[in-house]
Amino acid sequence: MRDLLNKNYLEKQDIITLLSANEEDTKALFSKASEIKEKHVGNKVYFRGLIEFSNICGKNCYYCGIRAGNNNVNRYNLTDDEILDCARFAYENHYASVVLQSGELANEVFSKRIENLLTEIKHLSNNRLGITLSLGEQSEEVYQRWFNAGCHRYLLRIESANKELFQKIHPNNEHHSFETRLNCLKMLKKIGYQVGTGVMIGLPFQTLEDLADDLLFLREFDVDMVGMGPYIEHPDTPLYEYRDLLLPRPERLQLGLKMIAILRIMMKDINIAAATALQAIDPMGREKGIKVGANIIMPNVTPGEYRNSYKLYSDKPCTDENPDDCTQCLEARISMTGNTIGFDEWGDSKHFKEKKRPE
Ligand code: SAM
Ligand code: SF4
Repeated sequence: MRDLLNKNYLEKQDIITLLSANEEDTKALFSKASEIKEKHVGNKVYFRGLIEFSNICGKNCYYCGIRAGNNNVNRYNLTDDEILDCARFAYENHYASVVLQSGELANEVFSKRIENLLTEIKHLSNNRLGITLSLGEQSEEVYQRWFNAGCHRYLLRIESANKELFQKIHPNNEHHSFETRLNCLKMLKKIGYQVGTGVMIGLPFQTLEDLADDLLFLREFDVDMVGMGPYIEHPDTPLYEYRDLLLPRPERLQLGLKMIAILRIMMKDINIAAATALQAIDPMGREKGIKVGANIIMPNVTPGEYRNSYKLYSDKPCTDENPDDCTQCLEARISMTGNTIGFDEWGDSKHFKEKKRPE
């Protein structure tokens, strides 16, 4: 197995072997990934202040706690002023970037609202705050308008690159189509966004071969940023029925860490986020992600009172805290990993910048 770690180009079978590595080999995998991270992107972690501004969603993904069909959720929608306060908090605390995330809505009122918010956030930060959107599938025209208004990164997970598995975890209708998801990712790339995608790890019915295909998809699509983390079951979702098929949570975490480490070896200069779902399984989950290759963290800057209602899965961490608690606790945690925080730096994907450089 050790030979694989020195290969220039990992094939599917190599990835499956690495995903099945025993404890001893996993240590070697993690240390190789950490070495590559240090060499190619450095031991710096960049913050993206996460604003979960609304849990109102028009979709019904089978895994997600805020799906439209879940009537046990208190729906909320922050006012524009509240959203701008979150952005100001991130800016004043030197986070350098924010992510606006919510349930998926596709209508003109929503599109216009986001367009205005982008302009306002740029204004309040003298154009200095970087903005990422994570608002699901939209038309090319809307993506273009948001890009023109100042957003330069977009996160849209493919969830699983295996079309059959994608279909098993989504309703079978035109609002949940694998082709549409893929097409949206292509549109985002064409417009000029730094494109982030990712998958859930440890889904029911998912095999190691599927996960290897997910990593191959990320390389093939030539992504700039990746956010991927363990799937965590939620009792009010249809997928909960299959909870007996799941790996125990510590194994799902370990698989998540292996995916990050292998991806770092495959795509040396991209940005990889340590997903919050890692922390839902292990209080030190995100720090572990940073140690094995991740270089982005998304501290939650949503006011504490709303966080309990943005429960995608059970045991979501920090739902009873306020943004300040999170900043302090993160600073200490990151220095424990031997990394520093890139305060006031956008920390854009080096991979994206290299692609843009003229030949
Ligand atoms: N609505 C937008 C979308 O779907 O792209 C953005 C918000 S959505 C809640 C963000 C991500 O949460 C999804 O892409 C999905 O991967 C993740 N997610 C949802 N339910 C989850 C669960 N039960 N376990 C882990 N991740 C989950
Ligand atoms: Fe809505 Fe996103 Fe959850 Fe799907 S994953 S139900 S689109 S919030």
